[in-house]
Amino acid sequence: MSIFEFVKSHVDIVDVVSTYVRLKKMGNYWKGSCPFHKENDASFTVSPDKQIFYCFGCHESGDLISFVAKHEALSPIESLSSLIEKYDLKIPQELLKESGKFNSNRQAHNAHFELSKLFAHYARTNLEKNPAALSYLEKRGVSKTQIERFCIGILPSGRASINGLVAHARKAGFLSKDLINAGILIESRSTTYSPFEDRILFPIRDISGKFVAFGGRVYQPRDTRPKYYNSKESECFLKRQLLFGIDLARPILQSTGIGYLVEGYLDCIAMSQYGYVGTVATLGTSCTDEHLKLLSRYIHTLFVVYDGDNAGTNAIIRLAERCWQTDIELQIITLPEGEDPASLLTSETPHKNIFKNTEHIFDFFVKSTGKGYLKKTLSQKIQTSKKIINLITKVTNPIKQDLLLQQAAQSMQVPFTSLKSTCTNPNTTQTTDVKTSAHNKVSLEEKIFFISLCGADAEKNVTDFIITEAVIQYFPKSWHNMLQLLLKMNVHEQGKAGVKKFLNTLTEKERNKVLLGLFKHEPETTPMHFKQLLSLLASKHWKEAISIMKNKVQIAQKQGDSKRVEQLLLAISKMNHMKQ
Ligand SMILES: [Zn+2]
Repeated sequence: MSIFEFVKSHVDIVDVVSTYVRLKKMGNYWKGSCPFHKENDASFTVSPDKQIFYCFGCHESGDLISFVAKHEALSPIESLSSLIEKYDLKIPQELLKESGKFNSNRQAHNAHFELSKLFAHYARTNLEKNPAALSYLEKRGVSKTQIERFCIGILPSGRASINGLVAHARKAGFLSKDLINAGILIESRSTTYSPFEDRILFPIRDISGKFVAFGGRVYQPRDTRPKYYNSKESECFLKRQLLFGIDLARPILQSTGIGYLVEGYLDCIAMSQYGYVGTVATLGTSCTDEHLKLLSRYIHTLFVVYDGDNAGTNAIIRLAERCWQTDIELQIITLPEGEDPASLLTSETPHKNIFKNTEHIFDFFVKSTGKGYLKKTLSQKIQTSKKIINLITKVTNPIKQDLLLQQAAQSMQVPFTSLKSTCTNPNTTQTTDVKTSAHNKVSLEEKIFFISLCGADAEKNVTDFIITEAVIQYFPKSWHNMLQLLLKMNVHEQGKAGVKKFLNTLTEKERNKVLLGLFKHEPETTPMHFKQLLSLLASKHWKEAISIMKNKVQIAQKQGDSKRVEQLLLAISKMNHMKQ
């Protein structure tokens, strides 16, 4: 038995899941609302017999260890160790020996968390005895409640302060060596000091509330050191994965599905203080894919609050280039120049309305990338349009894509249609060639289907582009379901909204196929051309049908079944009639 099996045999999955999801017993299973995707149905199913979970909506599945790992954004080892802790399991000695690495890692990590917690609370106590630091926080508008909530503290400077910390740690069984290993103290040739000395201390906790690292900010006006000092990265502290405030924000993120992202400790604290409890902050890095992935477990919409300066704009542009891969909708809140969330929310006449003016990240991207477009040189213009089109190509919603193209066309002052056709292949400027070569590769059926769909989308002459029940029969079976749906849902009568509804009704596989097709195809065609294509399809269908019949005639002839031959020939002549 491995240590994993031991834990699984001693802890019940229903018990574990119930602490996160409201489960109801139904027959042999327990069911609830899936914590991994947004839903109103109870697709999430737990089997107590098999000790596994499965979601019929998002197909997430696994055992209790992978459940905790996914839910808490932990590694399997970490989720194992959190279960051992939570259920206070006594692991048999021989299992511990086998998993030596797990054990020593776990012990080292736990010691790090413990020591960090001790340091945080020590600094928190010190803050009460430090009027200068308290008054600085007060000036910055940080309330007592927030000081408590975020466990804000201070480590005074000087020998006595360091000695005091070492003595305090020793009482809990830690040595100065441990403080040095944790990056709280630094040993130089002549002395031992702390990089956090005389800085306001912001403890950084991971998603489950464990203290992992610290940020220290200078607060005295005459202090000329760098404004911030953050703990060095370690196995327990990776900036690209961690978000400040995530442990406190999580419940509200989970219940509202909405979060706010800011850049600093004080911004995050101010947001939280003024009611934006679901706020997290990056730690001196820009927002990474890993941050988004972590947040996407809890929220569907993230409001990114950012500085309106150049650096801020560029950071958002970089984010836009990547964020289409996650499930999170990103909305941008631009702060007025010279303001930050803290200054804005704490000012006497707060412009709190700013938090109501949001802009979708793609709109923001197109607008700010296209800004000053007309004044750019030719090569700059080409660069810019490539950038914009590259991004728009990645937008999967065809309607959204068209809207963005319209906006881009406006800022670049180029016709919408030419931008749209470039969008099918951003690497080329020779759009006509692309069009023909792309169309040569696609089947007649595909061509007809997409003209029909884009026709419905175009809101003009929609009836000219309807595929009737009779035409559907000419399509291979694999298309029937989609086409019948298109017909049944009256998509052509409802325009864009109909297309949207149609897309939502498809299976994921079908939807991907359709969306991909919408990128490849040039929707513009005349009703006459469409009719020609339809008759081509009909004749193709009948040709194939006739050739099958002719084969049957040959077989019947060989068998000397003259009556059958006669019947088949009669049928063929009827088909020939249909063909025309
Ligand atoms: Zn699910």
